[in-house]
Amino acid sequence: MKKKFAIAVPLLFILSLQLISAQEKIPSYVRTSGKLPQLAYSTGEDRLGSAKMGYIDTMIVMKVLDTVNNLYKVQLSSSHYAFIEKNYTQVVPDTVLSTAICENWRVKGGDKFDSVNIALTGRVPYKSWMEIDPSTIKIELYNVQSNTNWITQLSSAKAVKNVWYEQTESDVLQITIELVKQQHYGYSIGYNGKSLQLLVRRLPSIPDIRKMTIAIDAGHGGTNMGASGETSGVLEKNYTLLFAKELQKILKKQKVKVLMVREEDTTIDNRDRVLWGQQNNPDLFISFHLNSSGRSTVRGVSTYYKHVAYRSFTQSILKRLLEIKNLEEFGNVGSFNFTPIQPTEYPSCLVEVAFLSNEQDEKMILDPKFRTKVANQVFLGIKDWIKQWK
Ligand SMILES: [Zn+2]
Repeated sequence: MKKKFAIAVPLLFILSLQLISAQEKIPSYVRTSGKLPQLAYSTGEDRLGSAKMGYIDTMIVMKVLDTVNNLYKVQLSSSHYAFIEKNYTQVVPDTVLSTAICENWRVKGGDKFDSVNIALTGRVPYKSWMEIDPSTIKIELYNVQSNTNWITQLSSAKAVKNVWYEQTESDVLQITIELVKQQHYGYSIGYNGKSLQLLVRRLPSIPDIRKMTIAIDAGHGGTNMGASGETSGVLEKNYTLLFAKELQKILKKQKVKVLMVREEDTTIDNRDRVLWGQQNNPDLFISFHLNSSGRSTVRGVSTYYKHVAYRSFTQSILKRLLEIKNLEEFGNVGSFNFTPIQPTEYPSCLVEVAFLSNEQDEKMILDPKFRTKVANQVFLGIKDWIKQWK
């Protein structure tokens, strides 16, 4: 009886899925919606999902080319496409999508940011990224043609050195924002009406950790338990919080302003961690996790970044953590496609302190003295990093 039921359920499930896909009508056009729509390069099916191209605004209309599982394949320009989760879109009635015109720009300085305003005749899809040596922010605007004949740059701008563009394809505009300082310190991008607005954060002229606000994220929590200890069975979510609180204690003692993503065993969606960061606008973001591997011999500490511009931050922290006795190196990992460290707004570092799946590492994680040591080394890593700002 039990067996029959076990076979019947998957069969029914597959049949009903096929029915749904046969009936699904692909819309011609969708517009981005929801609380954090993002574009992806692929349909990627590993545990971290599709490689992210970046977050974009709502109300951007794109032509749908295809549907793949829970994603739409959407057209960005005549030769570029991307993928977007269906539940971050709304179907728009058939429309003619015209190419937007890029108009004049204005660069000026404010209190803490420089702003770059790019006037457009409509909201178009874009992606942006940071480059180093020299440090620039690049934006690619799709389905747009330039009529930018005028770029005003005011002397109040302190972080932005130069801005220019190239129409690299007949409907793609590539924008370069060259920075004064070598170290990137974050930027936000989004529409203000039809104008694309970039806010570039200024690197403080005096590196002083006491003037900074540091966000600490204890990975997982609530119903999201994370990994569990090989021999002890302890849960990652409880121990990430212990590491986070150790760092909180040390920073507070040093008179550093600290923001905690969670201080209790609460469930927080990873997308909400991004929204939280964008709202609270910390200077730095540190996320604690504990690693796990199918092979019990794998061990060691590792730090992770998404944007190459923030690599030096994660290297400084790793370097200090490697001073801890018996803590081996697992490595410094880039292009890490993990949601909480995707924002461009602030430098972030994800720390996988050690492996819960390794006996020696697990023993260390369970030791309160080790946790204090880890927090202290992270603190020293932050101080080392801000000292080397250029
Ligand atoms: Zn984790």
